[in-house]
Amino acid sequence: MSHPASRDMPLTDVASFVQHLQSSKRIVALLGAGLSASSGLPTFRGAGGLWRTYDATMLATPQAFQRDPGLSWQFYSYRRHMALNAKPNRAHLALAELARRNPAFITLSQNVDGLSPRANHPAGQLKLLHGNLFDVKCWDEHRCGYSRKNDFTDPIVPALALPTENPDSDLKAAAEKKKHALLRGADISDINVEIPQLKREDLPQCPSCKKNLLRPGVVWFGESLPEDVMSDVDDYFSDREKIDLMLVIGTSAKVYPAAGYTSIARAKGARVAVINMDRGDARELTKDDWFFEGDAAVIIPDILKTVVGEIGEFDDTKGPAL
Ligand SMILES: [Zn+2]
Repeated sequence: MSHPASRDMPLTDVASFVQHLQSSKRIVALLGAGLSASSGLPTFRGAGGLWRTYDATMLATPQAFQRDPGLSWQFYSYRRHMALNAKPNRAHLALAELARRNPAFITLSQNVDGLSPRANHPAGQLKLLHGNLFDVKCWDEHRCGYSRKNDFTDPIVPALALPTENPDSDLKAAAEKKKHALLRGADISDINVEIPQLKREDLPQCPSCKKNLLRPGVVWFGESLPEDVMSDVDDYFSDREKIDLMLVIGTSAKVYPAAGYTSIARAKGARVAVINMDRGDARELTKDDWFFEGDAAVIIPDILKTVVGEIGEFDDTKGPAL
């Protein structure tokens, strides 16, 4: 559908963006699920996300964990496995490079997949709003307080190895089928493979209190965002200096929390650039903003090129910065 030309429509040309970028000092990026999808990851957040026959949003609660920690851990173990088998894309790498070159650039990520940390994004400039699949903490975090970060062990305990199909089946064909499903962002876990009933003692145990289970270090529905992260974000936004540019990547600028951060950044002088597949966003922007429609993994390295240089593909051999 074509819109009539309007003065209120956002800019779409790279040249005007690059000009503003080059004079920008304080820059905020907000990352959402679309960036993970560019790396081939299903994200499960939001309506309609299914894992096997379960509504993923129903599994992402403290109550679900309490009710059936084995089921919850199998869901998160699956997601850890998938995330480890995905690679940071060129947008993750370009943003990490921008952070290295510009200490006044901060990234707020809603993604829990560990792809930005694995892209060597400087940790002090990366604020993980919803936690990280690769952090684990004691179920009773207030009384015990145990946590550990960036534990990439897969599976995290032997009992959480993915249930496998009959080894005689055509693995290659199955892998190919899964690859195509992944590219569509679909859930590929095979609902025909039964989920084992796990014993509590086979699940990850807290090594500190030796009483509770460990849980994934992600923010579940009904939980508040991590205090240390939020305090850093507040400090950045309440600084007296203006904000020059806000990049909204792979998420809609219309919905919380992007909408909230975007309006604070605007109030501090920022112009906004949205990079997303969903063109619905364009209508919310002004003529001083930019809207780039398409795959963030392609667009981000392109529009940041004059500042970050040419960005290649992720090099596995360098390994993650832990
Ligand atoms: Zn504990």
